[in-house]
Amino acid sequence: MMMPLRHLSPLRGFLAATVILVALGLYVVANAIQFASDYRWVTHTYTVIGHLERIESLKHRAVAESRGYLLAGQRASRDAFWRTSGELQREAKLLVEEVGDNVGQRRRAEGLRDALERRMKLSADAIDAWRPGLASLDEAMVARIRASDADLSRRLEALHRAEGALLDIRSRRAERSAWFVLLAAGIGIPVSLLLIGHAQRLLARENRTRKRAEAAASRSNAELQATVSQLAELSDSMAALSHYSSMLQGASDAQELYEITGSTFRGLLPGLAGFLYVIRASRDHAELVAHWGSPVASNDPAPALQSCWAVRRHAPFAMDELRHGMRCPHIGRPAGAGAVCGLCIPLSAHGEVVGWLSLQGEGQGAVPGASLAVRLCEQLSMALANVRLRESLRHQAVRDGLTGLFNRRYLEESLAREIARCRRRQQSLAVLMIDVDHFKAFNDRHGHAMGDAALSAFARLLRDSCRPEDIACRYGGEEFTLILPETDAAQALARAEDIRAGAALLRIGEPGAALLRITTSIGVAIMPEHGDVGLELMRAGDRALYQAKHAGRDRVVLADVAMAEPNA
Ligand code: GH3
Ligand code: MG
Ligand code: MG
Repeated sequence: MMMPLRHLSPLRGFLAATVILVALGLYVVANAIQFASDYRWVTHTYTVIGHLERIESLKHRAVAESRGYLLAGQRASRDAFWRTSGELQREAKLLVEEVGDNVGQRRRAEGLRDALERRMKLSADAIDAWRPGLASLDEAMVARIRASDADLSRRLEALHRAEGALLDIRSRRAERSAWFVLLAAGIGIPVSLLLIGHAQRLLARENRTRKRAEAAASRSNAELQATVSQLAELSDSMAALSHYSSMLQGASDAQELYEITGSTFRGLLPGLAGFLYVIRASRDHAELVAHWGSPVASNDPAPALQSCWAVRRHAPFAMDELRHGMRCPHIGRPAGAGAVCGLCIPLSAHGEVVGWLSLQGEGQGAVPGASLAVRLCEQLSMALANVRLRESLRHQAVRDGLTGLFNRRYLEESLAREIARCRRRQQSLAVLMIDVDHFKAFNDRHGHAMGDAALSAFARLLRDSCRPEDIACRYGGEEFTLILPETDAAQALARAEDIRAGAALLRIGEPGAALLRITTSIGVAIMPEHGDVGLELMRAGDRALYQAKHAGRDRVVLADVAMAEPNA
């Protein structure tokens, strides 16, 4: 069964077309050879017929010339007869040669030649026998001549007929060859052209498919390259992230976190300026805790939380163009004329936003390295939350919840440390034991909440009066202790007096409400005069406090050395 053209591959199409064309060529050549041969034979037949016709005409001429001589006795006629007769015999000989390839015709031509010879002999005999005055040929001669002419006519006729039949056969054969050539060319050439055209079309289609495949391959190659470089970038980012994470874990406090963050961002994203905000514990506003790079747009150092879209949306907020596009209100208008893009990333841990990072870079569109920045911020958020938790736990362990002052445990630890330090330096140290006067009565009169407010207010006063090296503690209830390193008795008494006077001036309660006041009694003990052990000093201070109470409260009393010594 023939394969449908649409299933033919271009190569097969070309091959089929080539085979058909070669076969066609061979067939045409073979037919052309055959045609040439047939044509030759046709020509040959015409040559033979030409000889026959010439023989016939020469014979008539020779007979006419012999008769002319016999009638007029002119020598010219007799000579012409001899010439024509010679010519006739040559022609007959040529005819025999010409039909030599055909046995039948050769036999007939030889017969004709011999018959012509005999006929010419008869005419020659008649010419020889002619004598002037002789009227005509004898009867016998005439009969022989007639018989010879009839024989000649028959022979010529037979030759003509045979040659005519040959001409017919040869002409038909030549015609058939020509028709076959025409037919083969008429079918073979269009079919070949069809096949070549179809193969050409298939080839063009294959070419298009191949080009598409090549384009797809080059596209996927480019994608592969991009993936490889992304992977390389990712691996670099992972290494940077892991380094950053381990640095953050090693940080002891929030300040160190900010410094590590600044230097990490500067190193990894050098084209970006950064502002790190941390939300204050009060959650009323945020605080700018670190910044790096060369910002084009200024940033509010203490913005409200709602001024950052990243905080509002709990998701990174990208700003394509800070100058004309939308930007967070905490970012100022960029200086200069160039385009600036920005990105704010919220820092959230355990479901709570603890701050945000605001980045800005030159150009329009996405901030370069945005995804890395987001990942870094995830690490920072966790670290920030951990540090805050640690600080809060530490705070809770050493601080008093109501007043925020150090607690008694911290007091005992730090008093021993401070005493040792001052002794090493041979310097004095003061311990102030402070007690709020008649506080039970205050509570009874104004309520426990007001009592708490009074204690908080006094603690604030105490804290405000402290130098950095001083340690203010809530010893318990309404009793406070203040450790003053490198302070002698006179300085300590002066400080105590300031505190006492300050406490007496405190306004407790809501502004405009009834004026509530407290007073305090303070006992002062000094190292080394009243001892060089914490407990001793505190006892001495307590005794002085007791004396102050006894003496009428709202006063400062320095511990008595004489009383201190027996307990030393
Ligand atoms: P004195 O002048 O002799 O020190 O008299 P006082 O009433 O201050 O002394 P007292 O030791 O009899 O009473 C101490 C009171 O302090 C008893 C307690 O109700 C109150 N107090 C202790 N801790 C707190 C506190 O945390 N909040 C409040 N509101 N009151 C407290
Ligand atoms: Mg008390
Ligand atoms: Mg008291």
